[in-house]
Amino acid sequence: MSVSYQATQDHVGMVRRLRRGINGLGARCRCCFCETSFWKFSKYRGGWEAVSSYLRELDWVSSEFDHFWCPFCRSHDRERHLKYFFDALDFWRRFEGAVVLHLAPEKHLGRCIESCGPERYLQGDLVPVRETIEVVDVTDIHEEDDSFDVVLCNHVLEHVPEDAKALGELFRVLKPGGVAILQTPFAAKLGKTRERDPEVTTEAQCLEFYGQEDHVRLYGTDLMDRIGAAGFELDLQTHDAVLPELDCGVAGVSRNERLILARKA
Ligand SMILES: [Zn+2]
Repeated sequence: MSVSYQATQDHVGMVRRLRRGINGLGARCRCCFCETSFWKFSKYRGGWEAVSSYLRELDWVSSEFDHFWCPFCRSHDRERHLKYFFDALDFWRRFEGAVVLHLAPEKHLGRCIESCGPERYLQGDLVPVRETIEVVDVTDIHEEDDSFDVVLCNHVLEHVPEDAKALGELFRVLKPGGVAILQTPFAAKLGKTRERDPEVTTEAQCLEFYGQEDHVRLYGTDLMDRIGAAGFELDLQTHDAVLPELDCGVAGVSRNERLILARKA
């Protein structure tokens, strides 16, 4: 590492710390994980302004890009929203002594699940990013049928070419009476899902039409039919019904995001 490179990194680190320190003087927003108050959450890639007009016109329900990262603990909007939903619905008790599968596990949410004392807590991902995560392919889960009480699989399906196979596997490994949480971005004004066009090849085109470079489709409202086709019974909980008092700007969550509970009868 050259001296000039290190000096630049030190400078960047100092600027970040300074900006964070100033941000921490405010009390407009609050992170439910680290319980820190500050002026504003950090945007994801330039916020909603940077999202294509195509996706905005289709009412794309995805992350809250303007209020995405907590500047202190780096929690993101989706896991904060799930924490609020779980608190309000008394969902945490479902993890006590339970067998839990958490795919593409969110770090802060994972710690909360662990603190509930599950009997077994398997965190899996196709490409693990932490030591505690095992290699698990959602389209080929090496677990017995009816193994898990709770499955979490958030923002995964839009990356999986064979999503019907993945949903079939999630249904198979879930115990009867169990529940899967399947948060997935979709376009509220698009009826039928658009699979990725093979002619869309550049990263800019993928961002414009599918929202991210590695999304293989843009789900429409038939997302719910696809989940149902795997055998699940859907239980959709809207933000306004469950969290009517919560100020989304303060909490850094999306009012449009629903909790997608998929039950196995
Ligand atoms: Zn935080």
